[in-house]
Amino acid sequence: MSLNGKTALVTGSTSGIGHGIALALAKEGANIVLNGFGLPEQIDDAKKQISDLGVKVSYSNADMTKPEQIADMVKKAEAEFGAVDILVNNAGIQHTASIVDFPTEKWDAILAINLSAVFHGTKAVLPGMMSRKWGRIINIASAHGLVASATKAAYVAAKHGVVGLTKVTAIEAGGTGVTCTAICPGFVLTPLVQKQIDDIAAKENISKDDAAARLLEKHPSHQFVLPEQVAGLAVFLCSDAAAQITGVPLSIDGGWTAA
Ligand code: NAD
Repeated sequence: MSLNGKTALVTGSTSGIGHGIALALAKEGANIVLNGFGLPEQIDDAKKQISDLGVKVSYSNADMTKPEQIADMVKKAEAEFGAVDILVNNAGIQHTASIVDFPTEKWDAILAINLSAVFHGTKAVLPGMMSRKWGRIINIASAHGLVASATKAAYVAAKHGVVGLTKVTAIEAGGTGVTCTAICPGFVLTPLVQKQIDDIAAKENISKDDAAARLLEKHPSHQFVLPEQVAGLAVFLCSDAAAQITGVPLSIDGGWTAA
């Protein structure tokens, strides 16, 4: 296994894409720090799935809207495992509304979790990664980090910001053995997207299948991206083969942004 002895901290890994990435990195031998919200049994189940793979696992309930909790999560992970070698900035939320109707508190929360938390996590892990001369920072951006859609002002602004921050991180870390990349998925069928499907179905009085098909009009493939496929890309980015891939957004979107 390629990541034996390394430690990966994956934010927002109690669900969806983050959970898939945590599992895939554990399968490669990495110890895992899980983070995110959920019922105690959901968190215990996620921990057990990881520990069953024969690696060490811990859980942090740090709230990504709180910079001091993010710094503390990294400090505790470094104390427990000796290092954070891989940081996957994945936690994210969504809210859809036109700009004139967009609730200010939703704008603030999306910017805090989807963008500012990436900065705070990166700031906390970089000194250790640079001193050990190896590190991978993988930011889960979005196709909406590259292109825009109506009703997603905060999300699109935050994800474009993540792509910009990825570039700065890569430049500042150049030559240190630390890379920083942004993964830009199209639609992945997770609770975050299921809510959008449910909202479209309710608002337009159409079936959930038709609402899902409406979203998939963005994908020339007309298929959802799978969490395992995003996780496979994250594992590759941790490999030696990816050591010179840095400062770039990588699309995994069924062809969406080719159009
Ligand atoms: P999800 O809702 O399944 O998971 C989100 C995770 O973030 C959960 O673990 C949740 O507990 C955690 N989280 C939310 N708020 C948090 C907070 N304040 N502090 C700590 N953790 C918090 O969503 P997902 O679809 O798996 O999304 C994961 C990432 O992928 C997000 O950044 C999202 O923007 C991005 N993304 C998703 C899609 C998609 O189609 N699902 C596409 C492109 C990008």
